[in-house]
Amino acid sequence: MNIPFVDLAAQYHTIKPQIDLAIANVIADTAFISGSYARKFEEAYAKWLGIKHVIACANGTDAIEILLQACGIGPGDEVIVPANSWISTSEAVSFMGATPIFADVDPKSYTIDPDQIEAKITSRTKAIIPVHFYGLAANMDAVMAIAQKHNLLVIEDTAQAHGATWKGQKVGTIGHAATFSFYPGKNLGAYGDAGCMVTNDDAIAEKARMIANHGQLKKHDHQMEGRNSRLDGMQGAILSAKLPFLNNWTSSRQENAALYDQYLGDMGIQLPYTPADATHVYHLYVVQVPDRDRVKQAMKDAGVQCLIHYPMPLPFLKPYADRNPQPADFPVVHAAKDRILSLPMYPEMTEEMIAYVAKKLQAALEVKV
Ligand SMILES: *Cc1c(COP(=O)(O)O)cnc(C)c1O
Repeated sequence: MNIPFVDLAAQYHTIKPQIDLAIANVIADTAFISGSYARKFEEAYAKWLGIKHVIACANGTDAIEILLQACGIGPGDEVIVPANSWISTSEAVSFMGATPIFADVDPKSYTIDPDQIEAKITSRTKAIIPVHFYGLAANMDAVMAIAQKHNLLVIEDTAQAHGATWKGQKVGTIGHAATFSFYPGKNLGAYGDAGCMVTNDDAIAEKARMIANHGQLKKHDHQMEGRNSRLDGMQGAILSAKLPFLNNWTSSRQENAALYDQYLGDMGIQLPYTPADATHVYHLYVVQVPDRDRVKQAMKDAGVQCLIHYPMPLPFLKPYADRNPQPADFPVVHAAKDRILSLPMYPEMTEEMIAYVAKKLQAALEVKV
C-alpha cells in the first residue's frame, strides 16, 4: 500500500462539481481580486466561527503581520510566541520591527506553557501569540488570565486549528484577535495562498482592513500607507464551496485520530494528548518515537510518507542564532525535536490505511539496532 502524507486530490474528487462551478462563476464575473466572492466568504466564515469581523487577506503570515500593525505593535516591543511553531509566528513579529520572545511548550499538550509565558514578561512585552498547535487549542484560560494581569494583547495563531475549541468556544474567538491560514494543506484549504484575520473589536477590524488594502476602505480614499494583501476571488469562491464540508472533515479527522489512538495504544510511544477543556482537530497527528530518523525511513520504505513538524524548534533556527540559545533554555522542545513524527492524516483516510500505518510503525519500532 502507498499512503501519502496528505491527499488533496482525493478531497477534490469528492467535491469536484462544487469547485468547478465556483471557479467558472468567478471567471464569468471577472471578480478576480477581493470583490463579491471574497466578501461572501468573509460573511460565511464569520457566521461559522461566531465572530463579528472577518477580514480576508493573502495568506496566514500576512494576517499576523497586519494584525500586529493594526494593534500598534512595532519597534521596541516584545511579543511572546511558543518555541515550536511554523516560522511565520515569529517571522511576522520581527517583520513588524518588534522582537519575538520564545516560551517553551507543555510536554504533554505541546502548546505554549503558561508558566514560561510569565517567566518571559518584561516591561517591553506587548502581546502574546498562542498557537493552537497541530490542531489542539492552547490553554486559553491561562493565556487570557496572564494577558489581563499584565495588560497584554492576545493574538491567536489559529492557522492549524479551524474549529478546535477551548471550554466549548471556538479558538480564534477568545483572544483580542486571531489569524487563520487557508494554505492548501490546512484543515480548510484554498487552491493557492489565502488567509484571514478575525476579531470582535471594531477598531482593530477597521485598521486591519485598511492596512490590507493600501490604507483605503473606499477606493482612492487612502487614510494611510498600507500594503497589498487581498484574497483572490477564486480562492474566496473555493473556500465558500468548501466551508459547508468543514465540520464533517473535522469529524473524520477526529475519527481517524481515535483509530490511531486505538491501533498505537500498546506500542509504548507518546501519542497526541488532549486536555479535558480542549478539543483537537488533528491538523497533524504527531507521535514521539525513539530512533526517529530510522523509523521515518523504514516507514518510507514501506510506502508510508511521514513528515516532521518541525525539524528545528524556532529558537534554534539560524535567524535567532545571535541569541545563543542553550538546550536548557528550551528543554521540552529540545528533547522532543529528535522524537516527533507526523503520521499521515487527512479526512479521506480509511481504517484500512490507518491499520496499515500502525502495522508498519510497529514493525519499524521492533527492529533492534
Ligand atoms: C501555515 C501556518 C502559518 C502561515 O500561514 P500561510 O498561509 O502559509 O502564510 C502561520 N502559523 C502557523 C502555525 C501555520 O501552521
